[in-house]
Amino acid sequence: MKADHFDQQKLLALAAEDVALGQLAHRRRTLPENAAVEAAAESERELAAAAVRAETEVRDLQREVKRLEGDVETVRARAARDQGLLDSGSVSAKQMTDLQHEMQSLARRQTDLEDQELELMEQLETAEAALAEARRGQETAQAELERARKLRDDALADIADGTAQHEAARTEAAARIPADLLALYERIRTQTGGTGAAVLKARQCQGCRIELFGKELATVRNADPHEVVRCDNCGRILVRTAESGL
Ligand SMILES: [Zn+2]
Repeated sequence: MKADHFDQQKLLALAAEDVALGQLAHRRRTLPENAAVEAAAESERELAAAAVRAETEVRDLQREVKRLEGDVETVRARAARDQGLLDSGSVSAKQMTDLQHEMQSLARRQTDLEDQELELMEQLETAEAALAEARRGQETAQAELERARKLRDDALADIADGTAQHEAARTEAAARIPADLLALYERIRTQTGGTGAAVLKARQCQGCRIELFGKELATVRNADPHEVVRCDNCGRILVRTAESGL
C-alpha cells in the first residue's frame, strides 16, 4: 500500500493519542483509590457487624435483668403475703412454723436473685461500654469510607476529563489522515491492542522496541518514502523520519 510520506507521519499524532488513552484506561483499571475504597468498606462492614453483636449482647442482658427483677418482685410479694398472714395472728401454730420456714427460704432466694442481678448489671455495664466503643469505631469507619470514596471519585473525574480531551484530540488527528491509511491503522491497532503505527528511531521500532537489521532493514531502507512499511515483529506501520537511522 502507498500513502503520502507526510500523511504517514500524521499517524504518529494519532498513535500518541492512543498511547495516552491507553494509559488513562490502565490508570482507571488499577486505581489505588479503588483498593482504598474496598479496604475501607470491608473495615466498615466488620465494625458494623461488631456493633450489631454488641447491641444483641446488651439487649439479651437487659432482658435477663428484667426477668430477674420480676423474679425478685414475685419473691418479695410472696414474703409480704406471708408476713401479713403472720401479723394477722389468724394462723395456727403449725401454719406459723410453715410460714416462718417459707419466709427463710424466700429470704435466701431473694439474696440469691439479687446477687445474680448485681452480677448481670456489671456485665451489662461492660457490654454497654463495648457497644459505645463499637459505635464510635463504626462512625470513624464510615467517615473513612466516605473520604476514600470522595478521593476515588475525584481521581475518576480527572481520568474522565483527560479521556475526553484526548478523545477530542484523537478525532482531530484522525480527520487529517486519508481514509484507507486510517483504516489500515485501525485494523492494526485492534490486533496490537494499543497503537497501529510507531516511529522508526535509530533503526528501532518504537512500538515493540525491536531493532531492525539485515534483510528487513535493507527492505525498509530501500522502500519508496510513499510506500507503507510495517514492522515484521509487531505489524505496526513503521513511520520513517530523519531520526530513523536509515
Ligand atoms: Zn514493532
